[in-house]
Amino acid sequence: MYICSTCAVEHEEAVEVCAICADERQWVPAAGQQWTTLDELTAAGHEVRVQELEPDLFGITIEPKLGIGQQAHLVRTPAGNVIWDMVGYVDEDAARQVRELGEVAAIVASHPHMYGVQVEWSRALGGAPVLVSEADQKWVARPDPVIRTWSGTLDVVPGVRLLQLGGHFPGSAVAHWAAGAGGKGVLLGGDTIQANPDRATMTFMRSYPNRIPLSAAVVDRITRAVEVLEFDRLYDNFGKTVDTDARAAVRRSADRYIGWVRGDFDHLT
Ligand SMILES: [Zn+2]
Repeated sequence: MYICSTCAVEHEEAVEVCAICADERQWVPAAGQQWTTLDELTAAGHEVRVQELEPDLFGITIEPKLGIGQQAHLVRTPAGNVIWDMVGYVDEDAARQVRELGEVAAIVASHPHMYGVQVEWSRALGGAPVLVSEADQKWVARPDPVIRTWSGTLDVVPGVRLLQLGGHFPGSAVAHWAAGAGGKGVLLGGDTIQANPDRATMTFMRSYPNRIPLSAAVVDRITRAVEVLEFDRLYDNFGKTVDTDARAAVRRSADRYIGWVRGDFDHLT
């Protein structure tokens, strides 16, 4: 098993170039494609950090930073835990920390940049199923029988609903956790809806690193699909949040985005 040094997604073999990085949404570094392994990452001192973000929600990160530096999330529910997005490293200590939080019912990524070492994590957790959005399954570089596809809407456990909204990738999804934020609801936005540094607005893009926008129609479609849900807080996949009033913030952010791409504010440019 090989891990792309740039995006930290696991691969069955060390191909000439990682397809995820060669795609227009990512990048291949100037030095060219590089591969690493779990043993090399262990030797380099990488560790998994699991920290509670709010009751029953945990952030999973790698220190020092690995790949694009995402934060995975673990939602704890009475029916089993859901790991939302994955990181590119796992070791026995990490698996023990996650097992101590309860049985993992499913591992599911918001989109292919977040696959990480999802099959390796599944093995470390005794074979937890890995759910992959059917529309994006061609990006899986390490096929395995633990992978199952899904599409549309899926209640992965009671109280945690996956919604395929597209946008960033055709299979891009968000996860709605009804019991989050003290019962007001949490939306795990992945890169479908990414929180801004102002902690009060979000944005929507085909590519964040290469700054490729989405159309007004797609941003409106995504917003309509989430504003029927009850949620007060949003977490994106890089540790950024909109802590309160997040549902109204999505609509506000979408209206601003749509106004800009339509030309409403061209007099300001
Ligand atoms: Zn890559």
